[in-house]
Amino acid sequence: MPETSSLIQVALPVPLYRRFDYQTKDARPPIGSRVGVPFGKQQLVGLVVAHPTQTELPLDKLKPISRILDTESLFPPALWSLLLWAANYYHHPLGEVLHHALPVLLRQGEPAERKPIPCWQLSSSKPDMQANLKRAPRQQQALQLLQDGPLPAAELREQGIDTPVLKQLAAKELIRPFDLHLQAREWLDHLLLHEENVPYLNLEQAAVLAAISQAEDRRPFLLEGVTGSGKTEIYLQLIQEKLSQGRQVLVLVPEIGLTPQLLRRFRRRFHAPILTLHSGMNDRERLDTWLACKAGEAAILIGTRSAIFTPFNSLGLIVVDEEHDMSFKQQEGFRYHGRDLAIVRAQREQIPIVLGSATPSLESLHNALQGRYHHLQMKQRAGGAQAAQQHLLDVKHVPLQAGIAPQLLQLMDEQLAVGNQVMLFLNRRGYAPALLCHDCGWVAACPHCDAFYTWHQQDRRLHCHHCDHMRPVPSQCPECHGRNLVSSGVGTEQLAQFLEQRFPAYKTIRIDRDNTRRKGELEAHLTAIRHREYQILLGTQMLAKGHHFPDVTLVGILDVDGALFASDYRATERLAQLYVQVAGRAGRANKPGMVVLQSHHPEHALLQDLLNNGYAHFARTCLQERQVLSLPPFSFQAVLRADAPSRELLEQFMQQATQICHHYGAPDLQLVGPISPVMERRAGRYRMLLMLQCSQRMHLQHYLHHLVPAIDALPMTHSLRWHLDIDPQEIAG
Ligand code: ADP
Ligand code: ZN
Ligand code: ZN
Repeated sequence: MPETSSLIQVALPVPLYRRFDYQTKDARPPIGSRVGVPFGKQQLVGLVVAHPTQTELPLDKLKPISRILDTESLFPPALWSLLLWAANYYHHPLGEVLHHALPVLLRQGEPAERKPIPCWQLSSSKPDMQANLKRAPRQQQALQLLQDGPLPAAELREQGIDTPVLKQLAAKELIRPFDLHLQAREWLDHLLLHEENVPYLNLEQAAVLAAISQAEDRRPFLLEGVTGSGKTEIYLQLIQEKLSQGRQVLVLVPEIGLTPQLLRRFRRRFHAPILTLHSGMNDRERLDTWLACKAGEAAILIGTRSAIFTPFNSLGLIVVDEEHDMSFKQQEGFRYHGRDLAIVRAQREQIPIVLGSATPSLESLHNALQGRYHHLQMKQRAGGAQAAQQHLLDVKHVPLQAGIAPQLLQLMDEQLAVGNQVMLFLNRRGYAPALLCHDCGWVAACPHCDAFYTWHQQDRRLHCHHCDHMRPVPSQCPECHGRNLVSSGVGTEQLAQFLEQRFPAYKTIRIDRDNTRRKGELEAHLTAIRHREYQILLGTQMLAKGHHFPDVTLVGILDVDGALFASDYRATERLAQLYVQVAGRAGRANKPGMVVLQSHHPEHALLQDLLNNGYAHFARTCLQERQVLSLPPFSFQAVLRADAPSRELLEQFMQQATQICHHYGAPDLQLVGPISPVMERRAGRYRMLLMLQCSQRMHLQHYLHHLVPAIDALPMTHSLRWHLDIDPQEIAG
């Protein structure tokens, strides 16, 4: 037995399941700390995962580490154990999981040392808002934002306010920069609740708050409360309670949910450092935020899914807002579910977790109905707004104009005439979903995918929304050389054009991914809408999430049939969630809203259930249906997906992988496939999938622990790409 007190085992950011042994001359760096190591010809940053006592290689074959980067673990114990759990549960290489959890600078070997956070604040408490800023809307906006207190530069930038704008304001001596030096739990000394802003809870809210505060077990809480029932108010009061005990709070929100309104609401309530994590931050800002939470300097962190990997000094509560939202699931690389990890994390930290939604996911609802979660419901609107009226419009045999029925156009006329706003949803951006030749029927298709190009008329290009391939719009048909190229179907761009012609007296704004790419653009559009600069709002579901439009009294959802008949069984659940979100955001107390759904199948049972009985009932009906069909949450799934440039190789691999599963012979393991998804080829690669389904989560996990190494050992894995998706949200995608 060789001398082993110098052995360390390291997880490296490589797509391999194995870990690597190295040796060190010095004292062994602790588990959870970073080391630099040679790997082939490269130098990599790895994480120490074990201090083994034996190794398969003779000691003199083991390479020494090149450097020690940390003297202590970067991860508090509960987070470390969450990460190990996640690698195991998602069957993803541990090295990649650990690296994913680290800010980029730490992955690159930068020291884990924090710098002060650059912030801006007003120079005096009441600056002259009119000070020659008439023609500088950005500067005005910046001043407005800073009214509520200092803000990190990163957050201002996220709202479209860049350094030059701030410098101009500073030159006028209206604002000044400062470095925020936080101290661990400094907020405790002057955590001043802005009492005047705190409403008295209504009876439902009070009951919910009491239930959460007084619960005697550690089951998660599902707060199922209609839009506007005061869920956020509950979060705020729970957070207040935790902060006053010196505990930190993590709030997870969907990708689009981190809105200035939400942040303003938090900042107005608490006199404590509130940090955010979002995609607009640079690497330095992410690292500083990460470290400020780890050191206990930040009181509240509000972030999207990856914020679940932030270390805290004394985490006391996790809130997952809009827990049903799809964006909590990471759809590439390490495919984890942020909400599910939050539940495991709360368990490991032994702290409460609240999942809130007006439209809970069927998974969470099922858990609540089974008693695995506390189930809390709020059915009244706190602010007193009325629920919207709903109409199902049968569009069979109806002459549609740009996809809109005459009846809906008439309703629009009426609402616009009395000064209200109208909102239309169409989940298809671009001018048209296809360009075709009127003479011979040729359709412009992407050469790399089994998909048609979307026609973007404004940019005069064809764009494949699946692989991002673009080309100019041809002037004639490549098949028959005819010049009669026409659109097929309607996208948001075309709809906007039509609306501008049909309603020339009103201004139309379109909100989709094409015109909200730049920083602050979405926010600027939303502000303009709130200021009533536009009367007709039109967009994809981007427009539905997290925004309240009190002057919108009519909402039209133009195309619901796609979701009703989609091959993905989750499509109806999503349609219902979108519908409820939209319906809940329109109108206010003295201006009730109306929601119109256009469908060719108004008799569809799920639609009828949703409209007549509401989401809560609809969701329970859906659950029954899923139970009959043994679909999640009544079964558990994993999808093996692979893609390759050659179909032959791909088929071989999938067949062998399927054989491995068959031979394993677990009686309750169901296999579906291997099959090709609807879009068999994407970005020049053929795709196939194999679905594994099991009635018990534990069993599925157990089988996968045998199957994955066997599949990974197949020789073809070197010439194609494959991955496993646990609890997939989109099967075909
Ligand atoms: P949700 O998060 O469920 O959509 P919110 O917490 O945002 O609901 O509350 C909706 C509106 O009602 C907000 O304007 C909020 O300020 C107000 N509100 C919430 N609770 C109360 C209350 N107890 N009394 C008066 N207004 C309230
Ligand atoms: Zn043609
Ligand atoms: Zn393509």
